Amino acid sequence: MHKLSGKTRRHLAQLECLARRMILYKRDAATRLAETRKLFGRSVCLVDIHTHSLHSDGLGTVAENAERVRDFGLDFFFATDHASLRQKQAVKGLDHAGWGQEPGVGHQHIGLLANTRLFRPRLDSIGADFQRARRLAPFVWIPHPTGWYPTTRYTPEQIESLRQLGPAFAMEIINGACQSVQAYDVTDQQAGLVWDRLLGDGIKITAVAGSDAHNPFDIGTTWTGVFASRRSSPAIIQALNRGLCFASESTLLNFSCNGKPMGTTLRTRPKATLSFHFRVADAGGIASIRIISQGRVLKNIRGESLKVIEGRLTQRAPVSPAYYRLETTASDERRAFSTPIYIEPAA
Ligand SMILES: [Zn+2]
Ligand SMILES: [Zn+2]
Repeated sequence: MHKLSGKTRRHLAQLECLARRMILYKRDAATRLAETRKLFGRSVCLVDIHTHSLHSDGLGTVAENAERVRDFGLDFFFATDHASLRQKQAVKGLDHAGWGQEPGVGHQHIGLLANTRLFRPRLDSIGADFQRARRLAPFVWIPHPTGWYPTTRYTPEQIESLRQLGPAFAMEIINGACQSVQAYDVTDQQAGLVWDRLLGDGIKITAVAGSDAHNPFDIGTTWTGVFASRRSSPAIIQALNRGLCFASESTLLNFSCNGKPMGTTLRTRPKATLSFHFRVADAGGIASIRIISQGRVLKNIRGESLKVIEGRLTQRAPVSPAYYRLETTASDERRAFSTPIYIEPAA
């Protein structure tokens, strides 16, 4: 039997202590999330669409990830290893898990949910690979569109390649790669800027978030809130495709216009009345709520650490196409971003 040195034993003890503290911390977050759900008062499925396991470069099994998803108060997750589809077998028998895949396609990656076959990118162009992925999977998105924490940053040209994806797609507005406590970082901040620029050019981009956990304890940093009719892979995918979802680190939100939910394209006469409604809940307290249109803040509401805020904003419909989206910051800086509502002038 191999004997561990005193130094190694001390390191192991430190690691164990760290892991235990992480579990306690995440349980606090789970308690906050449970309270937030009650305050929000509307059923929403909290889904981690992006996780890794030993089937690629993750450190835990799919079963361990499944346990953490429950511990950290989420409803469902997808096992999305890189170049494998063995995770499809591993989620069998779990009632809160589906499978997917996250291959690299050159510098960018593509996320697929519920693909029936292993996706092998041809690497000719991200646009062509994205279209092929769409034929194989009922939901496809772009993970970490500007790079990931701490040092992987895409060049402006690499980021611009997102324009090859066509007039509508889904993209991670928050990615948790290499983060154990809080997901939102400088790469997500940049993703938000790129998002507003592409939205401003008329591209419709659904907001999703994934922990990108390579370690089971990293699950829970960020997730996608999905207004799915049921807690199942097909129902979640259907809602994601309609844009009935938001990216979040803790806050629950709802955003609608003239009674239509986020993700909707509303055709209205110019100058017609647009009545936006929002409801935001966070048991940790809300610091601010912003309604953004065409890259500008239309309304900024100070949260005063309230746990629930509901409100309206009335606007005249624009004369040219425009998007409206809601974003929030919690008292401890945690972020959430709605999928936009799109307004198009009726002919
Ligand atoms: Zn990886
Ligand atoms: Zn990943």
